[in-house]
Amino acid sequence: MEYVIEAENLTITYNGYEAVKDLTFKLKKGETMLLLGPNGAGKTTLLKVLAGFHTEYRGKILVFGKPPVEVKDRVAYVPQTFSLNTRVPLSVLDVVAMGALYKRGVVHFNVPREVIDRALEVLDFLGLKHLAERPFRELSGGQKQRVLIARALMSNPELLLLDEPLSALDPKARIDATSALSKIKAEIGLTMVITTHDVNPLIEIGDKVMLIDRRLVAFGTPEEVLRDEIIGSVYGPAS
Ligand code: ATP
Repeated sequence: MEYVIEAENLTITYNGYEAVKDLTFKLKKGETMLLLGPNGAGKTTLLKVLAGFHTEYRGKILVFGKPPVEVKDRVAYVPQTFSLNTRVPLSVLDVVAMGALYKRGVVHFNVPREVIDRALEVLDFLGLKHLAERPFRELSGGQKQRVLIARALMSNPELLLLDEPLSALDPKARIDATSALSKIKAEIGLTMVITTHDVNPLIEIGDKVMLIDRRLVAFGTPEEVLRDEIIGSVYGPAS
């Protein structure tokens, strides 16, 4: 069995403070896991460990059979917020192309032709090609979110981590972002971990759901986890 992620009794700390304790779960190649939990539950913290950015933990966590820090180049992370403070406005195409260049740890300003072509291909795949020449900073929140997903695809990741990709989006933008993620799942078959406060829009693509609240509350299929008594144990009974 090929597992992309294997966690066993994983406890993640910040200077000794236990942000999230005792997580045990596995994710197979091609599966999408929806990571659910209230504010401060540890969702972003877990994504940062999976991305190899945060290394203060104990217990076992393997990504592609190795410690996450050793496989960073096979993983892409789409942050919850992203601001660009460049003096010259960057176009959407520049921002997406940067996704390939960051991989090598440097940003080149002479962007190679093949990188531009690939960026256009990725924008087209997500239905965003018409935005290529627009300044990134002028896009709506929903368009920015999809451009950031396009940027993450530039490094041809095998694991895609998305931190609340639907938060702050209006209903139409949520549908567009969800369609982009469905397309990535259906046509690229990427393994994904998506944090969210609301599983409903993403339920179609969720193979697994994990509910955490500074510890593991439940992990399993959506049918196993999304039960009133389990959700109610964290968020209180439905009113
Ligand atoms: P939200 O839904 O509000 O985004 P979350 O589930 O993503 O929350 P995290 O951001 O992972 O939660 O935070 C989990 C805990 O870790 C919180 O108690 C938070 O204060 C703490 N924490 C997060 N980042 C740091 C940090 N850099 N240093 C110290 N503590 C941190």
